[in-house]
Amino acid sequence: MAKKSSLFECQSCGYQMSKWAGRCPECGSWDEMLELNETQKQVLKETSSPKAKQRAKPITDIEVETITRHSSGSDELDLVLGGGVVEGSLTLIGGSPGVGKSTLLLSIAGNMAKNGKEILYVSGEESLGQIKLRADRLNSLHEKLYLLSEIKLSAIKQELKSKKYDILIIDSIQTLYSEELNSAPGSVSQVREITFELMRYAKDSNTAIFIIGHITKEGSIAGPRILEHMVDTVLYFEGDNSRELRLLRGFKNRFGSTSEVGIFEMTHEGLISANDISSKFFTRGKPQVGSAITVIMEGSRPLILEVQALVSESSYNNPKRSATGYEPNRLTMLLALLERKLEIPLNHYDVFINIAGGIKIQETSADLAIVAAIISSFRNRAISKDTVFMGEVTLGGDIRGVFNLDQRLKEAQTQHLTKAIIPTKPTQKTNIKCFSVDEVAKIIDWM
Ligand SMILES: [Zn+2]
Repeated sequence: MAKKSSLFECQSCGYQMSKWAGRCPECGSWDEMLELNETQKQVLKETSSPKAKQRAKPITDIEVETITRHSSGSDELDLVLGGGVVEGSLTLIGGSPGVGKSTLLLSIAGNMAKNGKEILYVSGEESLGQIKLRADRLNSLHEKLYLLSEIKLSAIKQELKSKKYDILIIDSIQTLYSEELNSAPGSVSQVREITFELMRYAKDSNTAIFIIGHITKEGSIAGPRILEHMVDTVLYFEGDNSRELRLLRGFKNRFGSTSEVGIFEMTHEGLISANDISSKFFTRGKPQVGSAITVIMEGSRPLILEVQALVSESSYNNPKRSATGYEPNRLTMLLALLERKLEIPLNHYDVFINIAGGIKIQETSADLAIVAAIISSFRNRAISKDTVFMGEVTLGGDIRGVFNLDQRLKEAQTQHLTKAIIPTKPTQKTNIKCFSVDEVAKIIDWM
């Protein structure tokens, strides 16, 4: 008889191998290799490979899934979800501890309960009393919102059998565990098994499920990408805990696009939709050395941002380069270009870049502002705060135009900025004075 092949899996990173090892060759953790039993292997198979073989069908015969959505009572969340909470969907909300995941879900639980939905909020993190206090502050108390303090999957399944809920919230996936597995809560096998069970429940019962996942320091949810490909929607919170602004970005959405970004403000009453968004990511006033203003697009909304640079003489052979909220490789490219085209000896200087508000810039339109901030810091000359820089810098040192220029300029005008340094002319009339700069070499003349 053929011997069944064994499969071992690292419980901290998910690396798999056929032999046991004391130390994971992938992430280096000790004593994390665990042999998977037959059930676990089955779950692994079902979650990682597509369903049974299917024959191709004429496109005209394909039935389109009908999607029923309900408003979450939060405009920003509805926007990111693509128009509301989808029945029977499984959504992962990730972010660092304290960023506002539980606060957001508890407040939408309150909203939806008020709209007649039955909600079950399962917490393995806090006691029922603590949650009630918080719900009270968030104005979320409602008799249709049920709380359960539980970490055992079997007990949660029991509760779900006894009552039908429209919405189920799991806070958090890392605290739950299935007794059928001998690995610790939060380990790869546990996270996969529990998510799999929840997914099955969501599809069978048409209950919309939200799972909270904490992101570890290394930046991944325990059981790295396993969760992400199993769920329908993945949303991540961004923003720095010390500030009040939070961004909720979609990374995957089976029921809509991931282009929209939710912007919230953390207040005493919880997370509220950040109105008048633009004014919150930059400061007005006196010109500052090393600081430049730009306008980026977050989904369909323009956002005015302040980028900051600090260039200081280095005491190292390898000068330091660090970028928060901006792509480090892009920074290296821009620095190389500045050395080459403008003959600025940046290889003797440390360069630090920071984007105000904890925002991560995802587009290239901020390149020109970064360049301006670096030159400003290097030459110790301040840039006026009523000037906005927009343009993508190419390897050749040219500056390219940005999409939605008119919309961005309009936003800048609303925020009383008066000058724009841009490579192309706007098509619509604007009160902003536009200066055309199409090469990096010319920016220095302008400054
Ligand atoms: Zn590992």
